[in-house]
Amino acid sequence: MQNSDISYLLEIQKLENKIGEYVKSIDSHSSRTKTLEKQISSKKNTLQEIEQKTKLQKSSLAEKEKELYELEEKRKKSDEHYKNAKSEQQVKALEKELKETIPNIERLEDEILSLMEAIDLSEKEIAEINSFLKGSAESFNEVQSEVDEGIKDDKYAIEVFEKKEKDILDGCSLEARELFFSLKKRFQYQGFISLVEKGKCNKCFFTIPPLLQQTVLKGASLECCPGCQRLLTPDLS
Ligand SMILES: [Zn+2]
Repeated sequence: MQNSDISYLLEIQKLENKIGEYVKSIDSHSSRTKTLEKQISSKKNTLQEIEQKTKLQKSSLAEKEKELYELEEKRKKSDEHYKNAKSEQQVKALEKELKETIPNIERLEDEILSLMEAIDLSEKEIAEINSFLKGSAESFNEVQSEVDEGIKDDKYAIEVFEKKEKDILDGCSLEARELFFSLKKRFQYQGFISLVEKGKCNKCFFTIPPLLQQTVLKGASLECCPGCQRLLTPDLS
């Protein structure tokens, strides 16, 4: 331990705080593209679902149209036969056939109409999603380059602070350096130094025994809080 250790470590704490801010800033930059990516991928999933659904609707429409055509043909023939019916028995049989065919035709016509409406709606939705995807692909590139720029600046700032930190650490005693590295592992960007305030650690509020308080105040050795293990420094305010 050397006399300057505590003031050096306090300086390093300030740098660590700044580095922590830039690390947070990098996270918030990258969360911008992540959010956009999520939106785009969820829209793509929706698009796939709708396209799948529309495909089924279209094949069902084709089947129903074919069925309707066949029934219409059948009906035309029955009408023809009806006109030319020779016997009462024939008339009755044809009437029975028409009575069954007509509601089927009407039901099919209704189903075809609602399928066509549903397909229309799906196609509108598909067009909307496609235009969203086109727009977001463009804005994604813009956001991506803003984010890249921001992250580059943040990384540069971190490099500068880390360089300063290294220079200061080089001036510390081996004991102080080792203490810093072990505390950094534990308290990265959460403050590895605490003040003794009104007899308590200002980070974990552990009551510091009077003897330890006096030692900390003297500043002649590196003392850690028995509660949270942070380096203790006197409250000089
Ligand atoms: Zn503590």
